Amino acid sequence: MAQINENYLKLQAGYLFPEIGRRVREFQRENPHADVIKMGIGDVTLPLTPSVLRAFHEGVDEMAKAETFKGYGPEQGYDFLRDAIARSEYQSRGANIHADEIFISDGSKCDTGNILEIFGQNNIIAVQDPVYPVYVDTSVMGGRTGSYLKSGYYEGLVYMPCTSENGFIPEIPKERVDIVFLCYPNNPTGTTAGRQELKKWVDYARKNKVIILFDAAYEAYISDPDIPHTIYEIEGANEVAIEFRSLSKTAGFTGTRCAYTIIPKNLVGNAADGTEKPLYPFWYRRHTTKFNGVSYPVQKAAAAIFTPEGKKEVKSTIQYYMNNAKVLRESLAKLGFTVFGGQNAPYVWANSGRGIKSWDLFDKLLQEAHVVGTPGSGFGPSGEGYFRFSSFATHENVLKAMERLNKLKW
Ligand SMILES: *Cc1c(COP(=O)(O)O)cnc(C)c1O
Repeated sequence: MAQINENYLKLQAGYLFPEIGRRVREFQRENPHADVIKMGIGDVTLPLTPSVLRAFHEGVDEMAKAETFKGYGPEQGYDFLRDAIARSEYQSRGANIHADEIFISDGSKCDTGNILEIFGQNNIIAVQDPVYPVYVDTSVMGGRTGSYLKSGYYEGLVYMPCTSENGFIPEIPKERVDIVFLCYPNNPTGTTAGRQELKKWVDYARKNKVIILFDAAYEAYISDPDIPHTIYEIEGANEVAIEFRSLSKTAGFTGTRCAYTIIPKNLVGNAADGTEKPLYPFWYRRHTTKFNGVSYPVQKAAAAIFTPEGKKEVKSTIQYYMNNAKVLRESLAKLGFTVFGGQNAPYVWANSGRGIKSWDLFDKLLQEAHVVGTPGSGFGPSGEGYFRFSSFATHENVLKAMERLNKLKW
């Protein structure tokens, strides 16, 4: 009889989004005529932009002719895309990242989930609380935690509370940790880390030989010139950090699938015999063994994002969402909520200020306003009392949702 991976038994059944889906479906079954506005899952709504679509179509047409047909491409991605990213996203910002340090993939969810594979089992992993659930659940699946505790935490993981008191920037852990997941601009809180805060983390990581796994999926939403777009804008970060970027939220690629991960060549880890080994060849080996590349038309479409025209289009899409975020921030504040985020990120993190628990607020908004958001406690115990509103809805729906909230009785 085949043995199961016992670690999967430790996972909590109520993974956040399925639970939201379940409650919404139940509500809709009982109220089939209710017009439910969904601002829960972080999925975009605007279509691909014209220059991206043009390149996508061209890519498909090339596949139709023997002379231009493409079979397997390089697992790490085509040079045309890696070069465009290195120039446009890194070198232009003074970050010394080269095209061959970029690995193209079909998503940051997979990359952030898979990256732990190249690290030893006994590393101590730290995560922000609240947190994007993927880092935690994949740590559990890989057997890097103990069991789930009543407190809402897994044994063996180090949780770093991110609260209004610390401006949603965690304190440096007091205990020894080896790997730290950081996400900025942050999902779920929509808050950002400035140069000084990131420098504090990079300096700590260099001094203590800690690896930072930096998820920058929302980098494109930064408009404040003082906020770094990449951790490699901080001196020495390429000795300690892996960065994850995705085109999902940047350019509406959630259904098209394309992302990239930066593994700097001078990043090292320790072997059991105490020698330092570069991590680059490990990820290279993993990626080329277990992955066969992103489809050619998708990479063509992705490259169009980094052309002047593509950049302009993407910027206007992002402005549309950020205008929604502004409406959310202002309306919620007027309703007495305390609001964070939503200025350099598409999420608004709001506390009702009425002492209501996150899931109770979820049920109230669903039942009484037919509005779906995401309960903050689903991202970790420090999210209790908070609620995440996503600006990825249509502008009309954002206005409608806020009008409905305005009519609620508390
Ligand atoms: C949406 C998101 C991603 C991107 O995931 P993809 O698999 O590239 O679509 C990564 N990290 C965070 C925190 C996200 O919210």
